[in-house]
Amino acid sequence: MDIRVDSSKCTGCGICEKTCPFGAISIEDRKKEHPRFKRIAVISSACALCGACVEACPFKAISIKKEEQKPSEDLTLYKGVWVIAEMAEGDFHGVTFELLGKGRGLAEKRNTYLGCVLLGNGIADKAGELISAGADRVISCDDAIFKDFYDTAFVETIAAMIKEHKPEIVLLGATACGRGIASRISGRLKCGLTADCTGLDIDSNGFLVQTRPAFGGNIMAEILSGNTRPQMATVRHKVFKPLAADPAKKGEVIDFPLPGGIELNMSIRDFVKDVTQRVNIADADIIVSGGRGVGSQEGFKVIENLAGTLGGAVGASRGAVDAGWIPYSHQVGQTGRTVCPKLYIACGISGAIQHLVGMQSSDVIVAINKDSQAPIFQVADYGIVADLFRVLPVLIKEIEQSRR
Ligand code: FAD
Ligand code: SF4
Ligand code: SF4
Repeated sequence: MDIRVDSSKCTGCGICEKTCPFGAISIEDRKKEHPRFKRIAVISSACALCGACVEACPFKAISIKKEEQKPSEDLTLYKGVWVIAEMAEGDFHGVTFELLGKGRGLAEKRNTYLGCVLLGNGIADKAGELISAGADRVISCDDAIFKDFYDTAFVETIAAMIKEHKPEIVLLGATACGRGIASRISGRLKCGLTADCTGLDIDSNGFLVQTRPAFGGNIMAEILSGNTRPQMATVRHKVFKPLAADPAKKGEVIDFPLPGGIELNMSIRDFVKDVTQRVNIADADIIVSGGRGVGSQEGFKVIENLAGTLGGAVGASRGAVDAGWIPYSHQVGQTGRTVCPKLYIACGISGAIQHLVGMQSSDVIVAINKDSQAPIFQVADYGIVADLFRVLPVLIKEIEQSRR
């Protein structure tokens, strides 16, 4: 692709300069004389070819020449939606079941099967769980090399499986392991990868529509991988919901041999668990979250009291974390955790998009805010327009009394 400014049309008005999210445009004095305009837009190498300036220029002076790209192979050979299962200490990570739940719907829309890749050591009895959770096929490789997380072994084996079976869609959890291997697999296969999707769907042409926040969460971008297969995406834990397990569901298990020639370039000597994290808000059923409206570290005591009364965890907005009132491990949102509790109580949180993307799929959302116009009320099932310091003590008292 190539971007150009037509010097005969550019007036130097500067509208495009303000539009560019990458700061790639500057308005400079013209090097050559022009009968009417002294200045001209100049585009630097920081340009990401987003096209915003093309739309913005009232004089149609900017154009982007797109080279027509064509697939290098027959994309119709690719069939099936795959989920890469993730295990830790013998159990599946919750994101595996969530992706199978979403993958089931995508596979039905594409009129194809739902596959699940299972890599591990001594995992023969594990495939059934994946089938009950929605998979039609489990593509499994059982080998001692997968006892520990050697990412190279995972990358090489999954890439070999994809090359042989040609799935059209491959989904992974946006976990530390999933993120680590997804980019390397897509690099091996030279296909597109969209990280941290918050929505997945199939469009009328059968493409996977991968929705994710862009430009600091200010817009939701819909991304298509038009010319390569498989279409790969990672999704965070708790974004989608798992299906109810169906133990009667039947499925096929395909054994895949470990590819030869895998060279491990590291050795794992020990596995040390992170014990610094006090809470795991991602797994909590009830979360009481505080924002800048809580006002201070001291103010969080009332949030902790309500969370304690309800048997829930304490969450926070980035506003509260940045203020130093609560550690980062409690942060909910785009740059914190994605949560999906049964009950989310947002106290003194305005509801910025970056916060909402991390909690809006909660089953029931209660918002307490002094400002009736706060955006949090747009996603709340129940809203209380009031001072949180007046509401929370009453709520705690009522809950305690109702239990007597
Ligand atoms: P504010 O927006 O200041 O809102 C405070 C609210 O409290 C107001 O609505 C006010 O009416 C209310 N209030 C004040 N006093 C009281 C009271 N006594 N009783 C009741 N209500 C009261 N934010 C996140 O939360 N998570 C993220 O992961 C995240 N990631 C980001 C990533 C990027 C790239 C960027 C640019 C921003 C990110 N943010 C994130 C920040 C986000 O844009 C907001 O700035 C932040 O969420 C605001 O926090 P807040 O709602 O606590 O504060
Ligand atoms: Fe104005 Fe268009 Fe020239 Fe930008 S390219 S300075 S918007 S005329
Ligand atoms: Fe900036 Fe996008 Fe225009 Fe490039 S195409 S100059 S990044 S607005």
